[in-house]
Amino acid sequence: MKTIEAIAAELQGYDPQALSVPMVNAFLHQLVAPVTQTETVSIFQALDRVLAQDVISPISVPPHDNSAMDGYAFNGAALAARAPLTLKIAGTALAGKGWVGTLGSDECLKIMTGAILPRGFDTVVPQELVTIQGDAVIIPPGLLQPGDNRRQMGEDLMQGLPALQKGTLIKPAAMGLLASLGIKEVQVFRKLRVAYFSTGDEILSLGDSPREGAVFDSNRYTVWGLLTRLGCEVIDMGVVRDEPALLEAAFLEAATTADAIITSGGVSVGEADYTKAMMKKLGDVAFWRIAMRPGRPMAVGRIVNNKSASGARQTSFSSYEKESNPPPSSAILFGLPGNPVAVMVTFLAFVRPALLQMMGSTQRPPPLLKARSMEAIRKKPGRTEYQRGTVSTARDGSLQVQTTGNQGSGVLSSMVQANGLIVLHHTQGNVALGDEVDVMVFDGII
Ligand code: AMP
Ligand code: MG
Repeated sequence: MKTIEAIAAELQGYDPQALSVPMVNAFLHQLVAPVTQTETVSIFQALDRVLAQDVISPISVPPHDNSAMDGYAFNGAALAARAPLTLKIAGTALAGKGWVGTLGSDECLKIMTGAILPRGFDTVVPQELVTIQGDAVIIPPGLLQPGDNRRQMGEDLMQGLPALQKGTLIKPAAMGLLASLGIKEVQVFRKLRVAYFSTGDEILSLGDSPREGAVFDSNRYTVWGLLTRLGCEVIDMGVVRDEPALLEAAFLEAATTADAIITSGGVSVGEADYTKAMMKKLGDVAFWRIAMRPGRPMAVGRIVNNKSASGARQTSFSSYEKESNPPPSSAILFGLPGNPVAVMVTFLAFVRPALLQMMGSTQRPPPLLKARSMEAIRKKPGRTEYQRGTVSTARDGSLQVQTTGNQGSGVLSSMVQANGLIVLHHTQGNVALGDEVDVMVFDGII
């Protein structure tokens, strides 16, 4: 386990008061580690889970050379010898049934899609290309090459080779692929447990009576949604009032039960509350000012519960293997800013990739898309800006993007309206109308 200090020492140009977005990600990559415990689940339960070991194909798919079309199977070598080619129909091969018999070079077999190709028969002529004459088919010249319309044994998956790699985030296609191999269960990393609470005395829980200067807690719900979408087990702790005893109890409980703790609020420079003090007291935490907008302040580190018995984790995770050297219960801390848009942006930019790494996933973040800006955007070099945008297809088929108006970091409606974030990179300056910009589309992410 590397300390904050050790990681900082390894990163060239680390300055907690002015961190670039790429530097934050490089830091977090060093800080977090994948969970080690695994469990076996059925295919249906495997959706959005991460494979904990390679899956080696127990069989080849397809298991035999077979026909890709309804038609007539024959030895393709005959194509070079005679044209047009006339072949006698010797029988019919149906899908799911092996055809038994021997065939001469002047014979063919009526064959259905998926039926096994008899030995030596490597080519299929689709039925719509032939003329039938009594018990023979006539294949016109120039339409086929030997090997056409044949699916080769193992062309999808070859017995003995890895079909899926450890670290794969299982999606619907992978579920089907596992089933095509006859595999019913797979070993996956256990779900990541992530605790969340909102801080700030001005934050009302739903159901509280409104009062002047107070706002309802929206972050609890966006974070719950983001974590659930990611396949995490969410430990929802609601709002924790700004009192040292309550904050301490919340952090210690979270450190004992969760792999990661996400909080919102209380990390900005001018904060007069106890959140930062408690983070400092209970863990190894760095307080950053990130060169980005929205989302400048953030606290990151590890919260430790020294008070918990070393076996505390085992009580809640009794089914998991005991770690060889159980540390005091600790959890990675992501102390996010309070503003609702800043919470979502910092989650997408930093927390989500870090949590994926903790889940054992080796998946790379989806590529940013290029879109033409439908307006001029003011941007200062020296910080990364994330503007809410609506991406659409222009008349010429290319992508275009428009900002969603008010970009205030508290304007959550901009996130609802947007279908992506326009990413204006650290060194980038003003954007002119028609310039290409990078866009992180939300589809499949949030
Ligand atoms: P802070 O980072 O604590 O200074 O909060 C910045 C802004 O975000 C303030 O206007 C807070 O009222 C608002 N805020 C903080 N936490 C939440 C929350 N859980 N839900 C909605 N707004 C919040
Ligand atoms: Mg606050």
